[in-house]
Amino acid sequence: MNLREILKNLKPGQAILHYNFASLEQFHAGIESVKATGLPLLFGVSEGERAYVGEAAAKTLTAEARKDWPVFLNADHTKSVEKAERVIKLDYDEILFDGSRLDFQENILATKKVVGLRDERDKNILIEGELGFLPGESELEGKIEMKPEYLTQPDQARAFVEATGVDLLAPSVGNIHGIPDQKIIIDFDRIRKIKAQIGAVEIVLHGGSGLTDEDFRAAIEAGAKIIHLNTEFRKIWKEELSAQIIESTITPYKLMAPVIEKIKERIVHYQKLFWQI
Ligand SMILES: [Zn+2]
Repeated sequence: MNLREILKNLKPGQAILHYNFASLEQFHAGIESVKATGLPLLFGVSEGERAYVGEAAAKTLTAEARKDWPVFLNADHTKSVEKAERVIKLDYDEILFDGSRLDFQENILATKKVVGLRDERDKNILIEGELGFLPGESELEGKIEMKPEYLTQPDQARAFVEATGVDLLAPSVGNIHGIPDQKIIIDFDRIRKIKAQIGAVEIVLHGGSGLTDEDFRAAIEAGAKIIHLNTEFRKIWKEELSAQIIESTITPYKLMAPVIEKIKERIVHYQKLFWQI
Protein backbone atom coordinates (compact mmCIF):
# COMPACT_ATOMS: atom_id res chain seq x y z
CA MET A 1 0.00 0.00 0.00
CA ASN A 2 1.16 3.53 -0.65
CA LEU A 3 0.78 6.31 1.91
CA ARG A 4 -2.49 7.53 0.39
CA GLU A 5 -4.00 4.05 0.76
CA ILE A 6 -2.63 3.63 4.29
CA LEU A 7 -4.35 6.87 5.32
CA LYS A 8 -7.56 5.94 3.58
CA ASN A 9 -7.64 2.59 5.37
CA LEU A 10 -7.15 4.01 8.86
CA LYS A 11 -10.08 3.24 11.13
CA PRO A 12 -11.71 6.06 13.12
CA GLY A 13 -9.50 6.72 16.15
CA GLN A 14 -6.29 5.64 14.41
CA ALA A 15 -3.35 7.79 13.31
CA ILE A 16 0.24 7.30 12.26
CA LEU A 17 3.42 8.64 13.77
CA HIS A 18 5.66 11.02 11.83
CA TYR A 19 9.20 10.60 13.13
CA ASN A 20 12.22 12.63 11.95
CA PHE A 21 15.73 11.33 11.46
CA ALA A 22 19.08 12.92 10.76
CA SER A 23 21.37 10.01 11.53
CA LEU A 24 21.65 6.31 10.82
CA GLU A 25 20.92 5.28 14.41
CA GLN A 26 17.73 7.35 14.41
CA PHE A 27 16.72 5.71 11.14
CA HIS A 28 17.45 2.22 12.53
CA ALA A 29 15.37 2.99 15.63
CA GLY A 30 12.44 3.68 13.29
CA ILE A 31 12.93 0.44 11.37
CA GLU A 32 13.35 -1.61 14.57
CA SER A 33 10.07 -0.16 15.85
CA VAL A 34 8.21 -1.12 12.69
CA LYS A 35 9.69 -4.62 12.92
CA ALA A 36 8.35 -4.83 16.50
CA THR A 37 4.86 -3.41 15.85
CA GLY A 38 4.20 -4.11 12.17
CA LEU A 39 2.59 -0.64 12.06
CA PRO A 40 3.28 1.96 9.38
CA LEU A 41 5.75 4.73 10.15
CA LEU A 42 6.19 8.01 8.31
CA PHE A 43 9.80 9.18 8.38
CA GLY A 44 10.38 12.91 8.09
CA VAL A 45 13.41 14.85 6.98
CA SER A 46 13.32 18.63 7.29
CA GLU A 47 15.43 20.88 5.05
CA GLY A 48 18.23 20.81 7.66
CA GLU A 49 17.98 17.04 8.12
CA ARG A 50 18.00 16.54 4.34
CA ALA A 51 21.06 18.73 3.96
CA TYR A 52 22.87 16.47 6.44
CA VAL A 53 21.58 13.02 5.39
CA GLY A 54 21.34 13.83 1.68
CA GLU A 55 17.99 14.13 -0.12
CA ALA A 56 18.62 11.11 -2.30
CA ALA A 57 20.25 9.08 0.49
CA ALA A 58 17.16 9.53 2.70
CA LYS A 59 15.02 8.27 -0.17
CA THR A 60 17.32 5.29 -0.84
CA LEU A 61 17.36 4.25 2.83
CA THR A 62 13.56 4.38 3.02
CA ALA A 63 13.01 2.69 -0.35
CA GLU A 64 15.29 -0.23 0.64
CA ALA A 65 13.46 -0.69 3.94
CA ARG A 66 10.09 -0.36 2.17
CA LYS A 67 10.74 -3.65 0.37
CA ASP A 68 10.04 -5.34 3.72
CA TRP A 69 8.32 -2.79 5.95
CA PRO A 70 5.53 -0.16 5.73
CA VAL A 71 7.77 2.91 5.97
CA PHE A 72 7.28 6.18 4.09
CA LEU A 73 9.18 9.43 3.63
CA ASN A 74 8.06 13.04 4.01
CA ALA A 75 10.04 16.15 3.03
CA ASP A 76 9.16 17.97 6.24
CA HIS A 77 8.78 21.80 6.30
CA THR A 78 9.90 22.45 2.73
CA LYS A 79 9.95 26.22 2.36
CA SER A 80 10.68 26.81 -1.33
CA VAL A 81 9.03 25.62 -4.53
CA GLU A 82 12.48 24.70 -5.94
CA LYS A 83 13.21 22.39 -3.01
CA ALA A 84 9.76 20.82 -3.32
CA GLU A 85 10.42 20.15 -7.01
CA ARG A 86 13.67 18.33 -6.18
CA VAL A 87 12.00 15.92 -3.75
CA ILE A 88 9.08 15.31 -6.11
CA LYS A 89 11.68 14.19 -8.68
CA LEU A 90 13.15 11.89 -6.03
CA ASP A 91 9.69 10.37 -5.55
CA TYR A 92 9.24 11.08 -1.84
CA ASP A 93 5.90 9.81 -0.49
CA GLU A 94 4.92 13.20 0.87
CA ILE A 95 5.97 16.83 0.80
CA LEU A 96 5.00 19.34 3.41
CA PHE A 97 5.14 22.66 1.66
CA ASP A 98 5.31 25.15 4.51
CA GLY A 99 4.06 28.53 3.31
CA SER A 100 2.85 29.48 6.78
CA ARG A 101 5.16 32.52 6.94
CA LEU A 102 3.60 33.94 3.77
CA ASP A 103 0.35 35.84 3.81
CA PHE A 104 -2.85 33.93 3.00
CA GLN A 105 -2.92 34.64 -0.75
CA GLU A 106 0.82 34.10 -1.25
CA ASN A 107 0.62 30.83 0.71
CA ILE A 108 -2.21 29.69 -1.60
CA LEU A 109 -0.25 30.62 -4.74
CA ALA A 110 2.97 28.90 -3.67
CA THR A 111 1.24 25.78 -2.33
CA LYS A 112 -0.86 25.50 -5.49
CA LYS A 113 2.31 25.70 -7.54
CA VAL A 114 3.77 22.73 -5.63
CA VAL A 115 0.55 20.72 -6.08
CA GLY A 116 0.79 21.49 -9.80
CA LEU A 117 4.35 20.14 -10.03
CA ARG A 118 3.08 16.58 -9.81
CA ASP A 119 2.37 14.86 -13.09
CA GLU A 120 0.28 11.72 -13.61
CA ARG A 121 3.19 9.54 -12.58
CA ASP A 122 3.59 11.24 -9.20
CA LYS A 123 -0.05 11.53 -8.23
CA ASN A 124 0.53 9.31 -5.22
CA ILE A 125 2.95 11.82 -3.76
CA LEU A 126 0.87 13.55 -1.11
CA ILE A 127 1.14 17.30 -0.71
CA GLU A 128 0.55 18.86 2.70
CA GLY A 129 -0.07 22.56 3.12
CA GLU A 130 0.34 24.57 6.31
CA LEU A 131 -2.09 27.28 7.32
CA GLY A 132 -1.87 29.42 10.44
CA PHE A 133 1.33 29.97 12.37
CA LEU A 134 3.05 27.46 14.65
CA PRO A 135 5.47 29.23 16.96
CA GLY A 136 8.63 27.66 18.36
CA GLU A 137 11.43 25.42 17.09
CA SER A 138 13.06 22.19 18.19
CA GLU A 139 15.74 23.95 20.29
CA LEU A 140 13.14 26.13 22.00
CA GLU A 141 13.84 27.32 25.55
CA GLY A 142 11.52 29.17 27.91
CA LYS A 143 7.94 30.24 27.32
CA ILE A 144 6.12 30.87 24.06
CA GLU A 145 3.36 33.36 23.52
CA MET A 146 0.40 31.82 21.72
CA LYS A 147 -1.50 34.62 19.98
CA PRO A 148 -5.10 34.08 18.81
CA GLU A 149 -4.19 35.30 15.31
CA TYR A 150 -1.79 32.35 14.91
CA LEU A 151 -4.69 29.89 14.98
CA THR A 152 -6.19 28.46 11.80
CA GLN A 153 -9.72 29.63 11.05
CA PRO A 154 -11.96 26.76 9.86
CA ASP A 155 -13.50 28.80 7.00
CA GLN A 156 -10.03 29.85 5.82
CA ALA A 157 -8.94 26.20 5.96
CA ARG A 158 -11.76 25.34 3.59
CA ALA A 159 -10.87 28.16 1.19
CA PHE A 160 -7.20 27.11 1.36
CA VAL A 161 -7.73 23.42 0.56
CA GLU A 162 -10.21 24.23 -2.23
CA ALA A 163 -7.86 26.76 -3.83
CA THR A 164 -4.70 24.65 -3.55
CA GLY A 165 -5.85 21.04 -3.99
CA VAL A 166 -3.66 19.75 -1.11
CA ASP A 167 -4.13 16.23 0.27
CA LEU A 168 -3.21 17.08 3.84
CA LEU A 169 -3.40 20.16 6.04
CA ALA A 170 -1.24 21.18 9.00
CA PRO A 171 -3.28 23.66 11.05
CA SER A 172 -2.33 25.81 14.01
CA VAL A 173 -4.54 24.67 16.89
CA GLY A 174 -2.48 25.67 19.93
CA ASN A 175 0.39 23.34 18.97
CA ILE A 176 3.99 24.53 19.26
CA HIS A 177 7.26 23.29 17.78
CA GLY A 178 9.62 22.22 20.56
CA ILE A 179 8.87 21.79 24.26
CA PRO A 180 8.08 25.15 25.92
CA ASP A 181 8.15 25.91 29.63
CA GLN A 182 4.38 25.86 29.89
CA LYS A 183 1.41 23.57 29.50
CA ILE A 184 0.46 23.30 25.83
CA ILE A 185 -3.28 23.71 25.35
CA ILE A 186 -4.61 22.09 22.18
CA ASP A 187 -7.92 23.40 20.85
CA PHE A 188 -9.51 20.03 20.05
CA ASP A 189 -12.78 21.65 19.07
CA ARG A 190 -10.92 23.67 16.44
CA ILE A 191 -9.50 20.42 14.98
CA ARG A 192 -13.07 19.10 14.71
CA LYS A 193 -14.35 22.31 13.13
CA ILE A 194 -11.51 22.41 10.61
CA LYS A 195 -12.03 18.74 9.71
CA ALA A 196 -15.74 19.42 9.13
CA GLN A 197 -14.76 22.11 6.61
CA ILE A 198 -12.09 20.29 4.60
CA GLY A 199 -13.83 17.10 3.49
CA ALA A 200 -11.47 14.32 2.43
CA VAL A 201 -8.33 16.34 3.23
CA GLU A 202 -6.70 14.90 6.34
CA ILE A 203 -5.33 16.82 9.32
CA VAL A 204 -1.69 16.57 10.39
CA LEU A 205 -0.84 17.62 13.94
CA HIS A 206 2.65 19.09 14.29
CA GLY A 207 4.52 19.81 17.50
CA GLY A 208 3.56 16.65 19.39
CA SER A 209 6.48 16.83 21.83
CA GLY A 210 5.31 17.92 25.28
CA LEU A 211 1.74 16.69 24.82
CA THR A 212 0.30 13.98 27.07
CA ASP A 213 -1.01 10.62 25.91
CA GLU A 214 -4.53 11.94 26.67
CA ASP A 215 -3.88 14.96 24.43
CA PHE A 216 -2.83 12.68 21.58
CA ARG A 217 -5.89 10.46 21.94
CA ALA A 218 -8.18 13.52 22.02
CA ALA A 219 -6.47 15.01 18.94
CA ILE A 220 -6.88 11.73 17.05
CA GLU A 221 -10.53 11.41 18.10
CA ALA A 222 -11.03 14.99 16.86
CA GLY A 223 -9.66 14.03 13.44
CA ALA A 224 -5.83 14.15 13.31
CA LYS A 225 -4.47 11.33 11.11
CA ILE A 226 -0.74 12.02 11.25
CA ILE A 227 1.07 13.19 14.38
CA HIS A 228 4.53 14.77 14.25
CA LEU A 229 6.97 14.24 17.12
CA ASN A 230 10.61 15.24 16.85
CA THR A 231 12.01 17.15 19.84
CA GLU A 232 11.23 14.40 22.36
CA PHE A 233 13.14 11.85 20.27
CA ARG A 234 16.07 14.23 19.76
CA LYS A 235 16.33 14.62 23.53
CA ILE A 236 16.36 10.85 24.07
CA TRP A 237 19.03 10.54 21.35
CA LYS A 238 21.29 13.11 23.02
CA GLU A 239 20.81 11.84 26.57
CA GLU A 240 21.50 8.21 25.73
CA LEU A 241 24.34 9.04 23.37
CA SER A 242 26.01 11.21 26.03
CA ALA A 243 25.81 8.38 28.57
CA GLN A 244 27.15 5.81 26.10
CA ILE A 245 30.04 8.01 24.93
CA ILE A 246 31.37 8.20 28.47
CA GLU A 247 30.88 4.53 29.35
CA SER A 248 30.99 2.52 26.18
CA THR A 249 33.22 1.11 23.47
CA ILE A 250 34.89 2.96 20.57
CA THR A 251 33.03 0.83 18.01
CA PRO A 252 30.26 3.09 16.67
CA TYR A 253 27.65 0.43 15.94
CA LYS A 254 28.11 -1.17 19.37
CA LEU A 255 27.95 2.21 21.08
CA MET A 256 24.77 3.08 19.18
CA ALA A 257 22.88 -0.15 19.99
CA PRO A 258 21.53 1.11 23.36
CA VAL A 259 20.75 4.51 21.79
CA ILE A 260 18.68 2.77 19.11
CA GLU A 261 16.94 0.67 21.77
CA LYS A 262 15.99 3.71 23.90
CA ILE A 263 14.51 5.62 20.96
CA LYS A 264 12.75 2.50 19.71
CA GLU A 265 10.95 1.98 23.05
CA ARG A 266 9.41 5.43 22.74
CA ILE A 267 8.49 5.09 19.06
CA VAL A 268 6.75 1.79 19.81
CA HIS A 269 4.84 3.47 22.65
CA TYR A 270 3.51 6.17 20.33
CA GLN A 271 2.83 3.86 17.41
CA LYS A 272 0.62 1.70 19.64
CA LEU A 273 -1.04 4.69 21.31
CA PHE A 274 -1.91 6.23 17.94
CA TRP A 275 -3.12 2.92 16.51
CA GLN A 276 -5.18 2.27 19.62
CA ILE A 277 -3.59 -1.10 20.52
ZN1 LIG B 1 6.39 20.62 12.12
